Amino acid sequence: MTNFEYDAIVVGGGVAGLAATMVLARARRRVLLIDAGRQNNLRTSHAGGVFLHDGEAPSALYARAREQLAAYPTVEYHEGLVADAEAVAKADGGGFRVDGVTTRTLVLAQGVEFAPSAIPGADELWGSLVVHCPFCDGYESRDQRVLVTGTDDYLAHMRAMLPLWVDDLTFAPQSEIARFDRDADSGRLRVTFGDGRVEQFGRAFVQQPFTQRAGLADRLGCARVEAGPLTIDAMGQTTVPGVFAAGDQTAMAMAVNLAVGAGHLAGVGAVFALMQH
Ligand SMILES: Cc1cc2nc3c(=O)[nH]c(=O)nc-3n(C[C@H](O)[C@H](O)[C@H](O)COP(=O)(O)OP(=O)(O)OC[C@H]3O[C@@H](n4cnc5c(N)ncnc54)[C@H](O)[C@@H]3O)c2cc1C
Repeated sequence: MTNFEYDAIVVGGGVAGLAATMVLARARRRVLLIDAGRQNNLRTSHAGGVFLHDGEAPSALYARAREQLAAYPTVEYHEGLVADAEAVAKADGGGFRVDGVTTRTLVLAQGVEFAPSAIPGADELWGSLVVHCPFCDGYESRDQRVLVTGTDDYLAHMRAMLPLWVDDLTFAPQSEIARFDRDADSGRLRVTFGDGRVEQFGRAFVQQPFTQRAGLADRLGCARVEAGPLTIDAMGQTTVPGVFAAGDQTAMAMAVNLAVGAGHLAGVGAVFALMQH
């Protein structure tokens, strides 16, 4: 019988991975949380709409969650990037090998990768003056002059959606935007248009394409929904038994509360799987 080093390895220490780790820790399972520290919302100073933590800085939420996990004796935390994960054949003991470390179960909570913006200057301001999600930043933008830019489809979607949050909206195709800057005097967003016009806005909502961080999942053979999020069942298990997943990596809608819930579920799923070992 294999002596596994861990009952579970959790890849990714955003809210989904942290929530999954907490469930496993409380079930007194040996769990290794490995995180590369690139949570997407670290770009913003406030997390809007988070249950009981509305407006709190994401960095503070992560620090507190890691502090609480550190109180559990069966949890280990490792800062780093997991490069490889493979299933071990049943005949060889089963489970998984993650960068050479053995585990009975695996939780993937790696989030998504946002592509660099095509608008010069936008990446530097993303999460502050340049945002993408009405549910996250719409309320804080309500009294501001707001630019919305992207493809025609995105603009049509936002024309229907954003007026719920914001009154003063200007829509412009992305092809008309030359660059974004922070105005040194006002601190507002300075938008230079292709025709040379310069205007100031409180914020811009932009289309921000992203892809799944799915290299490990693909190598393990986990199915995905139309090459997007991982397919999971009602217990957060992927199509590969013993591999669970949560958060943006599995979600159609991306929000902290949803990722916490999904992470908790994946943790519960992994505990149930461990009961069967
Ligand atoms: C700019 C911005 C603002 C947002 N604002 C809000 C908001 O106000 N309110 C709200 O509800 N939601 C907001 N969201 C959405 C919300 O933050 C996410 O839905 C949620 O935090 C996703 O959590 P996650 O744990 O799935 O992924 P992430 O937070 O992205 O965490 C994934 C972690 O996995 C790590 N990782 C990935 N691959 C590996 C690997 N191979 N090895 C080790 N570690 C790895 C990454 O480094 C990262 O730390 C915002 C998102 C963004 C981008």
